[in-house]
Parts: sequence; structure tokens; C-alpha cells
Amino acid sequence: MFETIVALATAPMRSALAIIRLSGEDCFKVVSKFFSKNLIDIKTNGIHHGFILEKNEVIDEVILLTYVNPHSFTGEDSVEIISHGSPLIFNKIIELAISNGARMAERGEFSSRAYMHGKMDLIQAESINDLINAESEESKKLSMMALKGETSKLVLPLKKTLGDILSLIEVNVNYPEYTDIEIATNEKVITVCDDLISYINKLIKDGKKGRIIKDGLKVAIVGKPNVGKSSILNALLGEEKAIVTDIKGTTRDIVEGKFNLDGVIINLYDTAGIRESNDAIETKGIVKSEKMLNDADICIAVFDSTTFDNEDKKIQELTKNKKTIVVYNKFDLVENTNKHDGLLYISALNNNVEPLKDAIRRYIGLSKENYENPSIANTREIGLLENIKKSLEKAQLDAKNGVPVDLINVYIQDAYLKVLALTGEDHDYDIATEIFSRFCLGK
Ligand code: GDP
Repeated sequence: MFETIVALATAPMRSALAIIRLSGEDCFKVVSKFFSKNLIDIKTNGIHHGFILEKNEVIDEVILLTYVNPHSFTGEDSVEIISHGSPLIFNKIIELAISNGARMAERGEFSSRAYMHGKMDLIQAESINDLINAESEESKKLSMMALKGETSKLVLPLKKTLGDILSLIEVNVNYPEYTDIEIATNEKVITVCDDLISYINKLIKDGKKGRIIKDGLKVAIVGKPNVGKSSILNALLGEEKAIVTDIKGTTRDIVEGKFNLDGVIINLYDTAGIRESNDAIETKGIVKSEKMLNDADICIAVFDSTTFDNEDKKIQELTKNKKTIVVYNKFDLVENTNKHDGLLYISALNNNVEPLKDAIRRYIGLSKENYENPSIANTREIGLLENIKKSLEKAQLDAKNGVPVDLINVYIQDAYLKVLALTGEDHDYDIATEIFSRFCLGK
């Protein structure tokens, strides 16, 4: 039984129009209690003009769309009410829906119902959120590919190959009387795992690139006070966001900003200069900086081209286990002849940060292919891929060590279940159906 849920589909603010959505078994019954037309016997999708009524008072004149299951986004009977965009009106309509039997929808509940009713798989459902939150054209494009089901197709070869080997092993073990079936040898398992692991490696690599396009990159700028961190942040952003002074310890909290680098949103964090300090506020800022450094995807370690001391050494120590771009700022103060090959010199004062942008580009390493092709780019999905790979590696190792295939099968089954979990099909998994769909065992 799917209760009728209601929620505002548009932003909760004053605007020309607002859309209130309802979905669930009693949807038409609930709406009929406060709409001027009776919708109970609606049989087809349609558009209706009418009035929202509370007792006999007209609350609003609206357009109402009816969707009869399964021909709706959720796969259930659904209604969209297009009202005038006053908070007084749309809140009242939601109130009326609730007092007449609906309940407020939870976050993402319309999408999760669409998934439960088989209107989309999990990868598609997850992409809706990504689509809404996309901050760049490129990110929007990737999320759209996922919503259209193109990303889910990447899972099909995994599902097919794993399903085949799984069924082959099961049938070898459980139906030895069928002699005309290929023998599931350890060599076969090794080869299949090899192919699958290479395919998964490519999926993970592309997925991580896709995730950068989708979620952007967190970049922390670290360095001792006065090396020019705030100036670099401002130069990269192209605006005076952080205060620049020659007084050490000015940046006491983290200053944030973002800019679009070839379609990737770079989230910059200018941290408090890291050094020993007796100032309580500055010390708090330094602790925050160190935490920020841990959370960031990469960091830019800034040094002054004219000096290098023990405080700089500490920064080197702090960033040694982190993906780091090392830059030497204030290059305008140094003779050109003193430049060392292979080091990255910039001058934030002169807005000369292009070499730094190039270094970030190189780190991201995106190709045209990454922008144009679907990729499994969600954290949950990439995590599952890593786990599938681990199970296959275990299966492969056992196969190489001569473990019998019926024992190795545990890992193959585990990998298969995780592949189903990617698209959310695992809830109705049944190995017997799987086998029967591949072999005519009844013959
Ligand atoms: P932070 O403490 O590391 O954030 O450093 P700031 O960005 O506040 O800069 C400290 C001082 O160095 C300021 O006086 C800046 O104008 C100066 N500065 C920053 N970048 C450069 C640069 O590339 N060249 C020169 N000559 N001075 C710079």
C-alpha cells in the first residue's frame, strides 16, 4: 500500500506559479475532496481547469494534471496542481491535501517510488539529485545521460558475463548429469575474471573523472603566513574575495570561493597560514586549516620564491602524503636567471597564475571522452565497483591456487549480487531463475 504523498515541486518562494505534486493510491480521492471537479473515476491522463476549495471558499483557480498509473513519473496515480505562486496559496493547498488524507513526502520519495515501481533503476534515480544540483553545463550533461539510462547500460556487460559464469558453475555442480554442458574449469574462471577486472578498472577510472566533472574538486591552499595564499585565491577567482595584507596571521578562518575551469567547478579554500602561534584565534584557524587539508582532494602548497625556512619545511612535511601542487609565488621579486627547471613559478600580485591553472588541469587530466561519454560517477556506485573487483580478485586467486570451482563460486555470487545492487535489482534476485533463463534444463 503506497500512501498518498504531497510536496511542493517548485522553490518555496513567491513566484508566478507553483507546482504541488501528489502521488499514491488514494491520490484522486484526496484531491477530489478540495478540487471543484470529482476526479475519482478518471481513467486517462488529462488536464483540468478548476478551483481549490476550502469549505465553500475559493482558495485559488488552478490547472491540474492527472496521471493514471502506470503512466506517471512515479508509476502511481499522480496529480500536479499548478497554482499561483504565493506561499499563502501553495502552503494552504498542501495543508488541504494533508487534512484530507495525504502525508508530506520525505526527501527524494517521488524518485524512490519511481524506482520501486520499476520506472527507473537506482543509477537513474540517483542522477535526478545530481541533475538538480549540477553547477556546470558539463555536469548537467553527465547527469542527463545517467537519467536517460545510458550510464546503466555500462553495467550490462558485467551482469551478462558474471551471470553466464555463475550459471555455468551452478549447473556443473548441481546438475552433473547434463553432460553436454561446457565444463567450468579454473582456467575459465581466471580468464573471465581477468576480462571483468580490466573492464571494471576502466569503469572506475572513468567514474572518478566523471565524479570530478559532476562534483567539482576541493582544493586547499596551504603555506606559512604571507607567502601569498589569499592573493592566489583572488587571482584564481578573478575577484578580491580574501583580504590581502602584509600583516602575518590575517587569514584566521577559511575563505572559500569557486571558479569554473574547463567545466569543472574548482572549490578553493584559502586556509589560515600554518605556523606556531600564541594567538588563540589564529591557533584555532590553524587547526581548521589542517582539517581542511585532510578533506581536500588536492592541495596547493605555496612557498615564497625569495626565501625558504623551517616553517616552509613544516608545510612540506604536512603535505607529503597529500596530492600536492607546489608553487613558488612572488616570482616577480626574483631574477629570471635564478629560476630552477621543473618548478612552478607564479606571481599572484601580477595575476600571473596561468601556470598554476595548467597544473590543476594536468592533475584533473580530463579528455573529451570524459565529458561526452556516460560514466558511473556516483560515490556509492564507485564504491560498489571497487568491492566487485575485490571479490573477483579473490575468486581469481583461489582459481590460480587450484581451489575447486564450487568453492570459488561464493565470490562470484557475491560479485554478481553487488552488480545487481548497482542498479538496485538485487531485491528480487533468484539464482534458479537466472540458471533457467540461460540453460534449457527441462529438455
Ligand atoms: P597570505 O598570508 O599567504 O594569504 O598572503 P597574502 O596574499 O595576504 O599576501 C601577503 C603579502 O604578499 C601582501 O602584501 C601581498 O601583496 C604580497 N604578495 C602576494 N603575492 C605576491 C606576489 O606574487 N609578488 C609580490 N611581490 N608580492 C606578493
